[in-house]
Amino acid sequence: MPDLPASSLYHATVEVFGVNPNNPSIMIISGQHGNEPKGIEGTKKLIEYLRNEDNEGVMEILAHVNVMILPGINIFGKNADARMEPPYNCTLDTRKIKLPKEYRGSINVPEGWVDPNRINPVPTSSQLMIESLATIYKPVLIILNHDWALPSGKVTFYSKKAVSKEFESKIYDVFLRVYPKHNSFGNFVKFVECFKDPDRNKYAKKLIDNFNSDVVLVENYVNHDSSPEIHFRVDLLILQDYPHIFASNNPSTDNSGDAADNNT
Ligand SMILES: [Zn+2]
Repeated sequence: MPDLPASSLYHATVEVFGVNPNNPSIMIISGQHGNEPKGIEGTKKLIEYLRNEDNEGVMEILAHVNVMILPGINIFGKNADARMEPPYNCTLDTRKIKLPKEYRGSINVPEGWVDPNRINPVPTSSQLMIESLATIYKPVLIILNHDWALPSGKVTFYSKKAVSKEFESKIYDVFLRVYPKHNSFGNFVKFVECFKDPDRNKYAKKLIDNFNSDVVLVENYVNHDSSPEIHFRVDLLILQDYPHIFASNNPSTDNSGDAADNNT
């Protein structure tokens, strides 16, 4: 592998809570898309919460899981207010790049940039960072916090195990504070979905295949005011309830036909 050019040297934050080698580890990532700052705010709230090491709730969490949090991982995208990220070996000084308006807050891909939540021929710096840390940390679960222009929020589990009904209803309680129960056609909104496997081009696929982790995508309506609070609450619920977020001995029902619509 060639040397990393100076412009790609990585200075993203990593926060670790809990170091018990006998506990499973959970990795939480936000800001893969640099134009989704609310997910970053939500994970920063979680970091602030977990720093209260004398808090009973925090002690309960860290008694059964270790947590690694990577907030705002796509630094170049964040600086440019862009969804995308250059590949790690890009020679441009990406810290100084100001993208034209049509690439800011948009899914258009600027020349030479790629989507860091997809599998790319050349990985991005944020992907290299995630993968090198996951190699060491061996997370059993990876949470990706995103905002996207869905009509409401959604939590998508990629796991061979089914999500327990109790846990599903806890997630519904979080979303129902903010989003309506029915869509404009009068149908119930599915706030929770479960798939055995993501589409082949999705970054979650690489995480599952390389690290044997389950992956959870937490999505909100893009830049919704309540988005940080929802990310915080859903991530916290997962940490509190793991591993009981999954039903025992009950394989996931795979709705993979629908997964292609997910543009997170
Ligand atoms: Zn996103």
